[in-house]
Amino acid sequence: MVASHGSLRDACATPQFDHSYDGAVLSDRCRHGSLIFRMFRHWFVLLGLSFMMMEKGGGMGSTYRTFMVDPLGALRPGLGNAIQSQLAVLFSPIVGSDNFFENNWVFFNPAAAAPVMHELLVYFMPPRVSIVKHAPNLNQQPDLSKDGNTAYGSGASEVYVKGNYDAVLLAKLAFHELMHNRLKLDNHLHAQGGLAAESITGSTQLSSRNIKSMAAVLRNPITQWIGGITMLNNGRHDPMSEYYKI
Ligand SMILES: [Zn+2]
Repeated sequence: MVASHGSLRDACATPQFDHSYDGAVLSDRCRHGSLIFRMFRHWFVLLGLSFMMMEKGGGMGSTYRTFMVDPLGALRPGLGNAIQSQLAVLFSPIVGSDNFFENNWVFFNPAAAAPVMHELLVYFMPPRVSIVKHAPNLNQQPDLSKDGNTAYGSGASEVYVKGNYDAVLLAKLAFHELMHNRLKLDNHLHAQGGLAAESITGSTQLSSRNIKSMAAVLRNPITQWIGGITMLNNGRHDPMSEYYKI
């Protein structure tokens, strides 16, 4: 849409939309181009609106949703939305690898999430503060010196928000934990490389192997542990809780 606007505008290199310009020197070709441009612009707006309506009317089963929560407010203002976009970029080639899901959405509501069926959830937490340690059926305590932890047996993933981490890195760390979660793999995941690697930086790339392995299981039902959300929402107001005013 944007590219089409640009190319139509470039086809007539005159400032047609600058009111200070003397219209008398516009060539006929350019006048014609201007009219076509305006018609196309309206057409594209209508087309865009119809796509939006189609998306709204589409069944939720055709949308692949990933949820992010941040009940303790570990993310500074604006960072949550930036991670949301970055995480959607990472899931896009996976969800788009076949025609099963029509859309890919990452939802961010700090204090609520409702993953169902095949959907995933990641908790963003302050540094060295874990909620995953309360997930059921844990066979070992999370290592808080890491950037994140996943108890894949209970569908619980968390990322620790360290002060100097930006949205790109935090989205990649979340994706890494969700790979452990989705593929139900412990440290054996790391051998896959790319964003499955043990050490991840902002420049680590999603590999074709990562896309393939995630796409292969994306439709499979998976249970996510949402019990931690209420625990954190309540805990932050409870002086007896370990999560009080963290
Ligand atoms: Zn890992």
